Amino acid sequence: MLDSEASDAIMMRRCVTLAQSARRSGEYPFAAVIARRGELVCESLNMVKAERDVTRHAEMVAIALAQKKLRATSLDDCTLYSTIEPCAMCSYAIRETRIGRVVFSLRSPVMGGNSRWNVLTDTHLSSVLPEVFAPPPVVLSGYLQEHVQKVFQDRNPLAWRFMKARKIFVHGSDAEHAASSNTGLRLGPWSSLANWARAVAIDRLWRS
Ligand SMILES: [Zn+2]
Repeated sequence: MLDSEASDAIMMRRCVTLAQSARRSGEYPFAAVIARRGELVCESLNMVKAERDVTRHAEMVAIALAQKKLRATSLDDCTLYSTIEPCAMCSYAIRETRIGRVVFSLRSPVMGGNSRWNVLTDTHLSSVLPEVFAPPPVVLSGYLQEHVQKVFQDRNPLAWRFMKARKIFVHGSDAEHAASSNTGLRLGPWSSLANWARAVAIDRLWRS
């Protein structure tokens, strides 16, 4: 059995390679890998576009696969690897399945289940309902940040510029600044343009 550090390096590289393959299926390069005690359990890309279902984030699909494969709802001794910080929805699923460790690359100050809404390391869940929720998982961020950023940039340079400018996904060291600079951000007169962008550009690009 590999130690955590060696296993993390192998699994995160696998996660980045998987994200690179998203180009073939037209999905955005969100990828997740689940390992148990250093051994691969399962992996998944984002399936939102393929299934026209916004709940099919890579982490959600991987969690469902892992539960089926291990024939268990509880994944205590598993580590989830992800290219991007899990969102609030995925973070809640991580907490309910009691995944013990979460390792990801870029932070998500706008949508993240740790940076924005603290679901991932919230202690209230486990202190009030310890029979359901385990203590928070160990969370490690910033793995292969340059590689993941390059995958997103190569996939769609224009979309990546948009994400970077809005500080949607950031390097760990930028997370605090991004979180504060996004506070109170309003589109004002650009809201109708944003409506158009959602329907015409973003949905077509990401989800349809
Ligand atoms: Zn998610």
